[in-house]
Amino acid sequence: MSDASEFSGKSRTVPEIQAKIDSGEALVLTAAEISEKVRAGEEVRFEDVDVVTTATRGIMSGTYAVLSFKVSEPDSFVRASEVLLNGVPAVPGPCPNERLGILDLVVLGTAHSETDPRYGGGHLFRELVEGKSVRVDVTTSDGETFTAETSLAEMPFARLYATRHAFRNYKAFVNPGKDSLNTIFHALPFEGEFRELTFCGCGELNPIENDPGLETIGIGTRVLLNGAEGFVTGSGTRSSPKNPNLAGFADLHGMKPGYMGGFITSGGPEIINTWAVPIPVMHPGILDNILKVDREIPLQLVDVAGRLPLCEISYGDVWDGADLKVRYKPEDCLECESCDVDGVCPMEAIKRTPEGKIKHNRGLCFNCGLCVSRCKGGAFVAKLGSVRCTTGGCMREIKVTLRQSDRARAVKAAEELKKEVLSGKFRITAPVEKIRFP
Ligand code: SF4
Ligand code: SF4
Repeated sequence: MSDASEFSGKSRTVPEIQAKIDSGEALVLTAAEISEKVRAGEEVRFEDVDVVTTATRGIMSGTYAVLSFKVSEPDSFVRASEVLLNGVPAVPGPCPNERLGILDLVVLGTAHSETDPRYGGGHLFRELVEGKSVRVDVTTSDGETFTAETSLAEMPFARLYATRHAFRNYKAFVNPGKDSLNTIFHALPFEGEFRELTFCGCGELNPIENDPGLETIGIGTRVLLNGAEGFVTGSGTRSSPKNPNLAGFADLHGMKPGYMGGFITSGGPEIINTWAVPIPVMHPGILDNILKVDREIPLQLVDVAGRLPLCEISYGDVWDGADLKVRYKPEDCLECESCDVDGVCPMEAIKRTPEGKIKHNRGLCFNCGLCVSRCKGGAFVAKLGSVRCTTGGCMREIKVTLRQSDRARAVKAAEELKKEVLSGKFRITAPVEKIRFP
């Protein structure tokens, strides 16, 4: 970690940066804009940037929500012992709200519906934010059952908590075994014998990748979590100085559905979240990491069974030259009798109309790329690239078939944060405490 005193005469405090923003003189750039300049060979100096907006969007299992709402009239039951929200099990409590007709619930982002194998906590949170109504099935402590309906508008308290988000850099996965296997790191059974590769992480855009020493990100840092203002509360589970991640929270009422949702893996439904974090450039040392591009950021390729390390690659291997967005070309669709991507898309973004046409819902699409390798007619298009890895004396070229991070929307999240910072809507905060590791 660099020390501001090393850069005498060249430092700014967070309040000074905020004052510069308020006077309309601040230079705010997204991490993607900085990387573009670096790739073009341009020099980016301390004087050229006051704030960098960073972001990441991906599967982040460590998520739960606390919801509190009225479900019936006071004294109509003593307390709830079991609750399902659209079939997703919730934990009643911790407060029992005895005889008040009010539920306090903890809902895990990775909870799976008891009635629909393609629905989980992530889907539920997105539908709440979309304003949809939710079915509530309650079993009371007296063994009575009843059903009600609710929506986010009827919840005075609905907060999303992160227990492990925005990992500095995650991993890439292959299955070296003979048999395919079900895992949360693939949307289909993961094919064996190094036939495909999946990975997580937004590389050079990731907030902690831009501030790995957590010099500017700390307890109390204001962030956008799924588009809503929230705060960092510390480091998350399995966080370490080498691979830190963040814990935090934000109110579901302010979230944007396009940044969140469920993602169906062959290990069951998972949850997607998006973070956007400002990095105030307080001294030149902070720029060192901001100027790093994907090829300088290591990514470990591991065996998906047991996470045994196999190769050291970089985020440049998976993002350089790759298309961030997946496109659908209806003119190339063969209208096959049995479509290989309808019902397989982890976001349910591909649907067949009653007339047999395939529709691609861009608003739902996560740009994971799975349809690119599975569509028979090549109607789904994106360059996903491949990775070279030498293991056991054998060099292999392994195709990327699934990305568990949506960099296109991470870019958008960083751009939105930049606009909010410049307009003064989003205020930069200095941490109240440094993050310490368990
Ligand atoms: S597999 Fe591809 S080409 Fe065949 S119907 Fe589906 S989208 Fe069209
Ligand atoms: S890239 Fe294809 S498989 Fe992935 S979410 Fe989008 S439409 Fe679905």
